Amino acid sequence: MNEYFQRAIPLLNKIEQNGYEAVFVGGSVRDYLLNRVIHDVDIATSATPEEIKAIFPKTVDVGIEHGTVMVLAFGESYEITTYRAESEYVDHRKPKEVKFIRSLHDDLQRRDFTMNAIAMNKNGELIDPFHGQQAIKNHLIETVGNANERFQEDALRMMRALRFVSQLSFTCAPKTLEALIFNKELLATISVERITSEFGKLLDGSNVQEALRLLVETDLLAYLPELDGKRDGMLQLAGYPINKLKSEDEKWALAMHCTDTLENVEKTLRKWRLSVKRIRTIRTIMKLVKELPEQPNLKWLLYQNGLEYVVSANHVLSVLGYDAVMEDEALLEQWQSLTIHSPSDLVVKGSDFVVWAEGRKSGPWISEALTVISEKVINGEIKNNKEQIFEEAKRCNLI
Ligand code: ATP
Ligand code: MG
Repeated sequence: MNEYFQRAIPLLNKIEQNGYEAVFVGGSVRDYLLNRVIHDVDIATSATPEEIKAIFPKTVDVGIEHGTVMVLAFGESYEITTYRAESEYVDHRKPKEVKFIRSLHDDLQRRDFTMNAIAMNKNGELIDPFHGQQAIKNHLIETVGNANERFQEDALRMMRALRFVSQLSFTCAPKTLEALIFNKELLATISVERITSEFGKLLDGSNVQEALRLLVETDLLAYLPELDGKRDGMLQLAGYPINKLKSEDEKWALAMHCTDTLENVEKTLRKWRLSVKRIRTIRTIMKLVKELPEQPNLKWLLYQNGLEYVVSANHVLSVLGYDAVMEDEALLEQWQSLTIHSPSDLVVKGSDFVVWAEGRKSGPWISEALTVISEKVINGEIKNNKEQIFEEAKRCNLI
């Protein structure tokens, strides 16, 4: 057993000493069986959240409505979820009520895919009533029980299926694939945040190209924000070696480059409910993907946008097959050689210009003047020296 599981065994013992069951479940067991890296372990128990809280002095209610309590014990923190059944669903998404139960079998039955419905006890014995190990062996994504019913209960599972195609390089079992196509419209009932989270993981998976093709083939694409009608762009995206990119934001920028315009991309990403900060990053990378091949003044571009974004745009261009791509190192050297890195590095300030202009009222002209001067300093036309800047400002009628 892997060290993450080993470390949690005292916790399982403690729960069992109190008369309840506790097992490892879900993604961590699946990834362990696949020899993939595990970051945390999921624990399920027959004890109710209240019973868990009575056993451990330090707990945090992280998801009490789903029966999840975080326990701080044995030098670690663990999320422990009570066995539950979700029988009735409203609007194909939220279970009407979460029912805590004492049966592990029934808890495994409510899980999405057979590979995610395997439990492991503290002795390393597997409890696998739905033959998840067989599915893992065959690299198959198959729902627990009837695929149509399971997708109708919670349509997000369809996006999860595709993100597992991307992350694990598995294929969908025939009935699961059929049900994906049959139920695709139900994706419209799912909150955008949940879809975005799965789509981000899909973009970041090693088999992303295949997952994107499947997104088009099943036409789930039509139910993703602003992607209806973007089949060609998506297939074009699926043709690029996306996983050579270094971050999820670079991948989003490439995806938007293939499916959207620079003018529209902010609106699109707002529909995906990405944060303002991420939207700015993705849009800037996308803008630089257009500008970098056309802009002869690399130093000025670096100064205006910062090293990080130019490097990211350069990665995207490389994936697009642009042949004049620079090495990251060369960009870093160019950046380091800049005489100034921001307007605050100039020896003059806006207030100097007001004085030089003999009291002209402050306004946008000041930042415009600073930009002109910055560019001249970056290009080496003048030095970052007060007298030279004053002379140049006069000569160019900036003051
Ligand atoms: P990851 O490695 O990305 O965390 P995961 O399989 O652990 O993948 P989680 O979202 O952490 O995914 O969910 C944990 C477990 O909860 C899953 O393995 C699965 O058993 C169950 N699960 C998660 N989402 C659903 C869902 N929408 N329907 C049914 N079961 C689900
Ligand atoms: Mg998980």
